[in-house]
Amino acid sequence: MKPTTLDEAIAFLARRIMPLSATATVHVAQAVGYILAEDIHAPASLPRFDNSAMDGYALKQSDIDDEGIAKLSIDHVIAAGCSSGFELRSGSAARIMTGAPVPVGADRVVMQENAVIDGSAVTLRITDNSKFHIRRVGEDVREGQQILKAGTKLHPGNLSLLVGLGFRSVRVTVRPRVAILSTGNELADSPDKLVLGQIYDTNRPMLSWMLAQAGADVTDLGIIRDDPSSILSALASAAKTHDLLITSGGASEGFADHLSDVVTRHGSLEFWKLNMRPGKPIGFGEIEHCPVLVLPGNPVAAAAGFATLGRAIIQGLVCRSCATPSYIALPLSVGYSKPAERVQLLMGKFRRRQHDNAIIVEPLTLQSSSSYRALSEAEVFILLGAGKTTVSAGDLVAVVPLWQHWEDLLGDAKLLPS
Ligand code: AMP
Ligand code: MG
Repeated sequence: MKPTTLDEAIAFLARRIMPLSATATVHVAQAVGYILAEDIHAPASLPRFDNSAMDGYALKQSDIDDEGIAKLSIDHVIAAGCSSGFELRSGSAARIMTGAPVPVGADRVVMQENAVIDGSAVTLRITDNSKFHIRRVGEDVREGQQILKAGTKLHPGNLSLLVGLGFRSVRVTVRPRVAILSTGNELADSPDKLVLGQIYDTNRPMLSWMLAQAGADVTDLGIIRDDPSSILSALASAAKTHDLLITSGGASEGFADHLSDVVTRHGSLEFWKLNMRPGKPIGFGEIEHCPVLVLPGNPVAAAAGFATLGRAIIQGLVCRSCATPSYIALPLSVGYSKPAERVQLLMGKFRRRQHDNAIIVEPLTLQSSSSYRALSEAEVFILLGAGKTTVSAGDLVAVVPLWQHWEDLLGDAKLLPS
């Protein structure tokens, strides 16, 4: 059975899209955003040496009296970067900086706030017996321990870990190569001069960015006229060198809409027309064994199709079993009614609920699938699932990011608890 709902389409894609097998070695500094192709084990421990967690004084535990006081002579100064090639004697302390190696024989650091200096002598006071202020070898990462799993999308924190462990390069899955084209006799490339009846092609620039953000390398095939053989030849030649083709426009059943026919005749159309709005004429199939995602021309519908299905395909191409959009559940600001049988995608924005300051989503007042103003204002799609006619204010709804990854959205200052 061909998928007819968004959920069925997503499940279908999760089965159908195979992860790319090609991997590449990239320098760690360039690896953020790539998907790791190998499990990574720590080749060393972190910290690599016992070091001070504080600016203070390193001493021997045995030099502390019953009152928690140690009176010692300051025999050494160890700055970060010094190698402390000596052993601390009983009765002496080493002034030490955060990150500096703890000398042999020292088993505690007292922070400088608890030190009283008198010439070359120091009186140290232990205020918390449980705090030794020494970062021990391997307490963060143990040598040999698995630290990252294949399939991880690398972020700058992963990069710190890899660099900290001395990695110069890692094996990653190659970025999917995606070719995009727009069809429509009315389309012109900005900033060419427009004549009456023409509009600028806005889908290619928008989808190129969304694709790059999703981790794809994009080839722009330009604007193709509403002509089946031109569309076919553009798709068939790009199919040889790409992992995915994405079209926008010409997706429904008007006399100038050719995509479903072209894909059916020269490949296979595996689903078309989902029960969702906007985005009804979305189709998926293949040409020359290359997957093709057929998106509607209306800018909001194209964005909706990409945010739900396009991203799922990109994720599926880089990681086994990742072909699912990332939804989070948030309360809806107002009640909403829709036909039971279809999925309704509403453009929305994050908002703070007044009485409890919780983050909620609010549908925009303007919901037209051709509205650039709405598209520009929207932050998310709110997904109202099939099977329900009304959703009440406060009900949890699925939310799909439109432009950004969750990391960026959640890191956004306006979402931080105030
Ligand atoms: P279509 O899907 O070809 O029937 O187009 C639906 C609507 O979207 C029409 O108003 C088109 O002019 C418009 N449209 C189609 N492709 C694009 C595009 N690439 N950029 C902006 N608008 C488009
Ligand atoms: Mg058209």
